[in-house]
Amino acid sequence: MPEDEITTQLAIIRRKRWQLWLVFITYLPAIGTALSATTGNTWPAITAGCWVIAAGIAGVRVSLSRCPSCGNLFHMQGVGTSWGKRCRHCKLSL
Ligand SMILES: [Zn+2]
Repeated sequence: MPEDEITTQLAIIRRKRWQLWLVFITYLPAIGTALSATTGNTWPAITAGCWVIAAGIAGVRVSLSRCPSCGNLFHMQGVGTSWGKRCRHCKLSL
């Protein structure tokens, strides 16, 4: 794969990682807003449910990212997932 294509693919993986972190850091503000702006448990429960779905989608997108160098899953080896900055197989760095 050409070097500029590898750079582009690595940028896509970095963007997916940032999206995952964005989902993680929005949980407390979102649930706090839902708790303080509404009465009852319906909207906080809906907010938490949406957050779990968004976290799951973002986590799967990061975990299933393919390494542009070796073609294996960048963050997974076997069933283990590590969201480190190096490919689990060829050690290509983000
Ligand atoms: Zn690799």
